Amino acid sequence: MGAHSYSDLRSHIGHELECVGYGEEANPVNVAIQCVTCGCVLQDYDRPSLAIRRHTDPEDPRKDFDHLGTMVCWHRRYKLGDLQPIEPPEDWFKENYPPEELKGSVLLPLYLYDHSGITMSAEPFSCQWDSGQVGWIFAKAEAIKEAYGDCSDASLSSARECLLAEVKQYDQYLRGAVWGWEYGDDSCWDYFGDTLEETGLEHSVPEEAKPLLEAAWEARE
Ligand SMILES: [Zn+2]
Repeated sequence: MGAHSYSDLRSHIGHELECVGYGEEANPVNVAIQCVTCGCVLQDYDRPSLAIRRHTDPEDPRKDFDHLGTMVCWHRRYKLGDLQPIEPPEDWFKENYPPEELKGSVLLPLYLYDHSGITMSAEPFSCQWDSGQVGWIFAKAEAIKEAYGDCSDASLSSARECLLAEVKQYDQYLRGAVWGWEYGDDSCWDYFGDTLEETGLEHSVPEEAKPLLEAAWEARE
């Protein structure tokens, strides 16, 4: 059945046609053009399925996105953050971040947990054996002034929140918590997050596919 050619469709000239959705009214699984006169389906489509997949080659937030902070890291095996100085931290700080520059800036420690994959945090990890400090993330006074207008307590607090968010996003990048969705021929990638809400996927998923989001998130691969 169906109308796939001139002759097929020609036989319905003058008939009563209708467009019908099957399944839940708000969310039909199939939509069809039918000939009421003949009682047959002329054309129909199934609803595409919504899939959420891990982005295997995501953008690097430190390279591909703007950021307020600078991450300086020391690690024997991993190239982490923005800067990987050769000289030891003491020497690097003396040269690049002397004590008088601390005022009006934000400086937070970075810790790495290295056990079947790496994860980063601005808070120490509880496991002493597989974790330790790898560096710092900082925003100097001039960067904070440029972003927030001044170095008031409120601006410093905003800058601190911003740096923590950057650490969180970089950690998600390191852990591979970066996602995309596919719906029919449509797709969108590079959503960072550990929960559906946090990823913000729902803002780009087509309206009609939104009811499928929760299930697709549970089944993500
Ligand atoms: Zn007909």
